[in-house]
Amino acid sequence: MQIAERVCRLGTETAFSVSAEAAAFASSGKTVYPFHLGDMNIPTPGNIAEAAIKAMMDGKTGYCPPCGIVELREALAADVNASHNTSYSAANVAIQPGGKPVIGKFILALMNAGDEVLYPNPGYPIYESQIEFHGGRAVPYGYLQRDGELRPDIDAMARRITPRTRLLIVNDPHNPTGAACTQEELERLAELAIEHDLYVLADEAYFDIRYEGTRKSLASVPGMLERCVILYTFSKKFAMTGWRLGAAIGPKDVIDVIATLNVNDESCSNHFAQYGVLEGLTGDQSPVRGIIETLRQRRDTASRLLNAIPGVHCFTPQTTFYLFPDVTEAMQKASLTDYERMRLTILQETGVSVCTRLHFGRALAHEDRLYLRFAYSGMDVPDIAEGIAGLAHFLEMRDS
Ligand code: PLP
Repeated sequence: MQIAERVCRLGTETAFSVSAEAAAFASSGKTVYPFHLGDMNIPTPGNIAEAAIKAMMDGKTGYCPPCGIVELREALAADVNASHNTSYSAANVAIQPGGKPVIGKFILALMNAGDEVLYPNPGYPIYESQIEFHGGRAVPYGYLQRDGELRPDIDAMARRITPRTRLLIVNDPHNPTGAACTQEELERLAELAIEHDLYVLADEAYFDIRYEGTRKSLASVPGMLERCVILYTFSKKFAMTGWRLGAAIGPKDVIDVIATLNVNDESCSNHFAQYGVLEGLTGDQSPVRGIIETLRQRRDTASRLLNAIPGVHCFTPQTTFYLFPDVTEAMQKASLTDYERMRLTILQETGVSVCTRLHFGRALAHEDRLYLRFAYSGMDVPDIAEGIAGLAHFLEMRDS
């Protein structure tokens, strides 16, 4: 069979292949500490599940409008307006089967073949995959270490803008580093977008996963509402990654194109599940606070224990559920400086399964530090503690 050429340009989410390896390791009877995948072991709040079941029993089992049920679009616009200080209405919202489909649909709606798209590296691997799949040129921008934390390299971004640059992808808060833009950084990004007439995907998958500090959005900066599409997801805030519901939120003319893409792809997102997230947005908010508190305790444990390992430097983000420690010195001491060897040795010797920096794109020229990514959303505090203690012991033994 001759597979179409464009498929060769598709990438993948490499964390899923790490999952498969970890599962194979576990099937041989060994304990695995699954720090590799940003999935959640927290149940979806009961009121959301009950509302979805009720809708199913009430017969909300047929097709619904391609952009979602109007009650949900209205409720989501109101919810986002409250946190973003924006003026969206239902016409600005297209419900999607997850946040991820917004990436490809944004690119399909706004990029022509040969256009250049700036995207974060390290970053969520689907950006590069979708840009190249649809015939664009993926242009990475990096993150720089400043005072122990990683910040988007906006100067490098500015230098890489050419007359062919059409789109800018910003993931804020950022997977894998946990970095969240300051107001000043958001304003600089907005300035660049306006000056160079770029359309922006603001991937806000972790916007509502916030432990301290205030949430800020690029869409709220003056001049950005007209050129920004928000990737919104219900997956993380309501611990419902497997339900597959999210939304594209942005200017009506782009949302109309995305609606046509919905008709061509999935027809509509799951009908009765939309009543579940409608309850999530408008009903009792205490389960959401419970999810954040659970994640906060995990973050604090993981960050404290990682920082106690000699040669590991771990910034503690106020948002997301990822830690991205600089492990350069620890790994040099353990003679493990090749990323894949490091990851596999750690898995085999300790059961700790992690992603490395390379699961988020090829390292850029200026990079000379080594990073691992720990997701703590899928493990309880005792398992997090046990896993990191095992890693600490292993590194101590390799050093002596
Ligand atoms: N964007 C980023 C940065 C993510 O990390 C993820 C999921 O991990 C998504 C988008 C997609 O989320 P969803 O599960 O809603 O498709």
